[in-house]
Amino acid sequence: MAEPHHRPLDAKQIPRFAGIRTFMRAPHTTDLAGVDAAVYGIPFDTATSYRTGPRFGPEAIRSASALLRPYNPGLDVNVVETLSIVDYGDVPVSPGDTERTYGQVEEALAQIVDAGVFPLALGGDHSITLAELRVLAGKHGPLALVQLDAHGDTWDEYFGQRYFHGTTFARALEEKLIEPKSSVQAGLRGSLYGAEDIDSARALGFTVLSCDELRALGPSVYADLVRGRIGRRPVFLSFDIDVLDPAFAPGTGTPEVGGLSTAEALSFVRALAGIDLAGADVVEVSPPYDGPGHQTALAAANFAYELLSLRALPVAGR
Ligand code: MN
Ligand code: MN
Repeated sequence: MAEPHHRPLDAKQIPRFAGIRTFMRAPHTTDLAGVDAAVYGIPFDTATSYRTGPRFGPEAIRSASALLRPYNPGLDVNVVETLSIVDYGDVPVSPGDTERTYGQVEEALAQIVDAGVFPLALGGDHSITLAELRVLAGKHGPLALVQLDAHGDTWDEYFGQRYFHGTTFARALEEKLIEPKSSVQAGLRGSLYGAEDIDSARALGFTVLSCDELRALGPSVYADLVRGRIGRRPVFLSFDIDVLDPAFAPGTGTPEVGGLSTAEALSFVRALAGIDLAGADVVEVSPPYDGPGHQTALAAANFAYELLSLRALPVAGR
């Protein structure tokens, strides 16, 4: 194991409510020596279409993450002993300029990816995933996308803009950053402009599961389906918090009723144990719309922790 092994503050020595709020209270550093996983924020929400606010997402998720403990019983893994985790801080962004922000995120993320460190982004709206995929596909080739989201984000444009949080995966396909036959979008629901909104995603080659279909499959059949699609390709898992029902995650920009409970979504994510995770993000957390208990940020912190847990587990078949 590389040194130093970074660990969060020990809550048996320094209580959880004390200290500066990095993710899980892990050390904040941009020195990647000895680091296995870097959690970093992308505080950007210029590309939202309805409610803004995800620029405050990283801060809120970090704050809520203070409660997380080292051992994940759901996946039987001690996350902080298996992975040396740091909080890399927020990468530079340009409010109001999506394409300039992409360049800034790509430059910063390249440092992490070139060092062989697993990147986990805290968003930010869903537009930022395109910049992440550009860097990771540059290293690994086209990735398998596993997307949990109430929306497919495969529109061609919005008000004439090609770079926006609802066009991310259309652009990612055009740029050959993801392999559609290896990619699964799940959790889609809500009113649409027309049937073509879902048909167009299927026409692009993605496997698309509505939220009702996902729930009917259940976690283990869903995970088998995902494993069958991804094959041996490295995976990018993009968790849009709006896959949760607004009763569980009101703090998001484009809420859709009829979503997953937090418990259901945990089961779907944990069922993916053994996948070869190359990168991940948790996006669309909008703290200004969160509930008084900050349940959206708390859920997001826990899903970020589950994604680190997936990375900490052995890859199946290796
Ligand atoms: Mn999305
Ligand atoms: Mn969404």
